[in-house]
Amino acid sequence: MNFLSGKSRHALLDQASQTAYDLLVIGGGATGAGIALDAASRGLKVALVDKQDFAAGTSSRSTKLIHGGLRYLKQLEFKIVRETGRERAIVHRLAPHLVVAEKMLLPLVENGTYGKALTALGLWVYDLMAGVSGDDRRRMLSKEKTLQQEPLLDKNRVLGGGYYAEYRTDDARLTLENIKTAVKQGAHCINYLTVKELLYEKEQVSGAVCQDHFSGREIQIRAKKVVSAAGPWVDEIRAINNSLYHKRLHLTKGVHIVVSRARLPLKQSVYFDVPDGRMIFAIPRGRSTYIGTTDTDYHGDINRPLTTQADVTYLLDGANALFPDAKLLPADVESSWAGLRPLIHEEGKSASELSRKDEIFVSPTGLISIAGGKLTGYRKMAQRVVSRVAQSLAAQGNVTFKPSRTHKLVLTGGDFGNAAAVDAFRNTVLAELAPLGFDAFDAGYLVHNYGRQTEDILKIFRAGTDKSGQGLILAELAFCMENELCLTICDFFIRRTGRLYFDIASVGQYAERVISEMALTYGWDTPRMAQERNELHQAVAEASRFDIAEKV
Ligand code: FAD
Repeated sequence: MNFLSGKSRHALLDQASQTAYDLLVIGGGATGAGIALDAASRGLKVALVDKQDFAAGTSSRSTKLIHGGLRYLKQLEFKIVRETGRERAIVHRLAPHLVVAEKMLLPLVENGTYGKALTALGLWVYDLMAGVSGDDRRRMLSKEKTLQQEPLLDKNRVLGGGYYAEYRTDDARLTLENIKTAVKQGAHCINYLTVKELLYEKEQVSGAVCQDHFSGREIQIRAKKVVSAAGPWVDEIRAINNSLYHKRLHLTKGVHIVVSRARLPLKQSVYFDVPDGRMIFAIPRGRSTYIGTTDTDYHGDINRPLTTQADVTYLLDGANALFPDAKLLPADVESSWAGLRPLIHEEGKSASELSRKDEIFVSPTGLISIAGGKLTGYRKMAQRVVSRVAQSLAAQGNVTFKPSRTHKLVLTGGDFGNAAAVDAFRNTVLAELAPLGFDAFDAGYLVHNYGRQTEDILKIFRAGTDKSGQGLILAELAFCMENELCLTICDFFIRRTGRLYFDIASVGQYAERVISEMALTYGWDTPRMAQERNELHQAVAEASRFDIAEKV
């Protein structure tokens, strides 16, 4: 049975209710997906559930960088810099198509966060701690060289620049490929299944009562250990477990806005000062450039963080101050996303000052919760949690599990070896698609999203008669429904393809065709199709209109 096919969902629910698991993971964001993969590949019998789609929480709403975290150096968090620096290189090896080297320019300006000496020293320490070598080592640039590197910078303000190596990714796709790889290792991963209650045996957590979002059906999942990787919802699960005391989460909201690349045609990524003393990123991606992030305390609905007009103004002002010729206006903002950082509360500290360190809490009834941390550190966080679970299981019974081996487990689609092989593959894909009117962006989009799995999509495309953009997107959809538990139209346009953020016009263009195709595959009736249409309209409105938050 292919448990990644949307058509196998009922069988998957049956299977989950009948299996005795070693581990149940609550939450299918980057952290939970990493835990499921680490545990399954060590030989544990694993189930993972998420109440929404995989990655629909914070893990599709980040800055999408796999980075050593220069800002942590400023906060003297050397351990985070060292660990995440090393992790970047590992995750790049596991999925070179998806975790792509990206040079970052840090322009020096009068009264900026980093002066010249501090930038030079900071980036040197950063490279050293992160183990960066060769051409990737940081360089300090003169004013002229900085402006050559990025001509859109304000020549009256820029004094010089630091130039260093980072990686960019697609957070949702990285999460999905971890889920898929975990399933290939034997895990059962189920989206749209909410943990309502926990089960107990001898006063220890022994599973959960879960409810299917679509049918309302309830199932019990039994497991020797339960880990909550519920991100911003970690305290909700701790409350269900009656263990919400001592440390708590402190949620902060981060917004990104997207403009077309034509309106902010950056040659490369820039990390820059904004007037209130913070720093933000501007990152070119495909035909778009995105700008972010904000960092403000959040007390609203965790299920629905929204972009406000104030967020948009803050980011546009910041960008216009450094790229004055762009003269970006609110009308230039095509799309946006807002995410919540699940940080650990520290008395007296502001949103930006809070540590990004991860922490594990174990309740008296054995619920293990993990919170804080970074997308970049997901693999290492997972390793730590699973080692704890494996030790505890070993102590309880006569079992031993293998050591973690996720540092060498290539993710689905990532079988390239190095970045040069990704480029060569992209050229092959372009050679096939160019005669049909597709361009380098289209080939790059497919290869960076799906890696080697692009071959599977092209196989479906070749077999069809429609050789237009619509034919290609339908091939992509068929692949996602069969291999990625893509169950709703928003799953497709947001987390599988990123189109809602980076090509929002194409969402309206293809929505009806995609709904019809999904209705055919999954047997949707007219009310279900109407519901899907409404949910997509709402997602488009929330991404592109900034008065909604004021009305909620
Ligand atoms: P989530 O992704 O939120 O996953 C938790 C999951 O639990 C959700 O999918 C939710 O649906 C599920 N869940 C909740 N309750 C239940 C329940 N009752 N039953 C079942 N499932 C449930 N990190 C970086 O390394 N690089 C960056 O560039 C970066 N930028 C960031 C920018 C912003 C604005 C933000 C907010 C964060 C950023 N981060 C970055 C941090 C990073 O995104 C997070 O650390 C990471 O995504 C958290 O993943 P998670 O799996 O812990 O949480």
